Amino acid sequence: MSNVFYRSRKSYPVAVRAEGVYLWDDTGKRSLDGSSGALVANVGHGRAGVARAMAAQAERLAFVHGSQYSSDVLETYAARLAAFLNLPGARFWAVSGGSEANESAIKLARQYHVERGEPERFKVITRVPSYHGASLGALAASGMGARRELYAPLMREDAWPKMPKPDPSLTGEQDADRLRAVLEAAGPESVAAFMCEPVVGASDAALVPNAGYHARVAEICREFGVLFISDEVMAGMGRCGVPLTARLHGEAVTPDIVVLGKGLAAGYAPLAGLMAQGRVYDTVMGGSGAFKHGFTYAGHPVSVAAGLAVLDIVEGEGLVAAARDRGAQLLAGLEALKARHPQVLAVRGTGLLLGVVLGDPATGQSDVTPGRAERVAARARELGLLTYPGSGSVDGVRGDHLLLGPPLSITPAEVDELLGLLDQALTDA
Ligand code: PLP
Repeated sequence: MSNVFYRSRKSYPVAVRAEGVYLWDDTGKRSLDGSSGALVANVGHGRAGVARAMAAQAERLAFVHGSQYSSDVLETYAARLAAFLNLPGARFWAVSGGSEANESAIKLARQYHVERGEPERFKVITRVPSYHGASLGALAASGMGARRELYAPLMREDAWPKMPKPDPSLTGEQDADRLRAVLEAAGPESVAAFMCEPVVGASDAALVPNAGYHARVAEICREFGVLFISDEVMAGMGRCGVPLTARLHGEAVTPDIVVLGKGLAAGYAPLAGLMAQGRVYDTVMGGSGAFKHGFTYAGHPVSVAAGLAVLDIVEGEGLVAAARDRGAQLLAGLEALKARHPQVLAVRGTGLLLGVVLGDPATGQSDVTPGRAERVAARARELGLLTYPGSGSVDGVRGDHLLLGPPLSITPAEVDELLGLLDQALTDA
């Protein structure tokens, strides 16, 4: 009998070791990490340099409380991160996970408007579907029915007006222009922020809006005095082949707040956070003088040291460009699988954030075959390939997909191995 509180009653293999793109369990079985866990292990597993940096930091300075100290490692990291993201003057607020980071972004946007003398602004517009986290505020913001239903009575629904998901049949500008109607309906003077994932993750497998979308969104937000929050927890830190995902198509756009997590410390330690534009920070500091928010472990020096060592790898090994190149290879291979497996309705995504949409080949609908992604993922797992299936219902419509996102350090041969295993799983399932 185990004393572990598992996520569900299915049985979980016990992992004991990992290196590069592979994990081993206690039976010796090896699995290729085709999803970096949940799109986390961006630099691959078993990096001794990251472990050494964490150990050295723990020995020198393991903890300070954010109400008493900054730390040298945090000062260095914030500057390096701002340079990597090309967000000069931005301020880094560190937390431990993506949900906490989105909670922070929502609260910061709210406080920003209160400080400016517009306390009537409290609503945050998000999209359907979307996923911004599991804590109650981040979950309230999420347009993901299946994960929300149980907790709905705990949430104030009118605070989170919804915008439809990106529609690739529209131009990016037309698509983004639909935000105007949502703002008008919500009452623009009551809206604090618009928040979206620049490339959709768990809720709608790697859906990418067209060029121009984010620039137009930013423009509309400015026009209505609303902050633009880009949730790059999953899509950020180079995974999509660019340092700042809101600039995916080369747009000259600077979100007011960029939210990061997952790939930041790439699984070596819990690290997430937000980058706030200088004017947002200055408004709070020039007003009441303090962000009325904080977590005990925010900016934990050991986590930040892990983040710094990971950033050294991302930059030193050119992993942003690698995400583009290996992503193109993987996408081409997935297109070939789609041609051979009619249950693959679509493949999409960018860099190494890719989605395989599954469904009934007879109807071409993904909403009549709930569980297909789970079945393919289960067979892949037996064969030694980890994927990230999603089949939650969104307002009654079932999505059924696999997210693929191996470490950005994956080699061309390992991409081929991944494709071979997925091919077999699609055939068997
Ligand atoms: N935002 C996005 C886009 C995510 O994909 C996730 C997690 O999957 C989160 C936020 C929540 O992050 P965490 O699970 O680290 O709290």
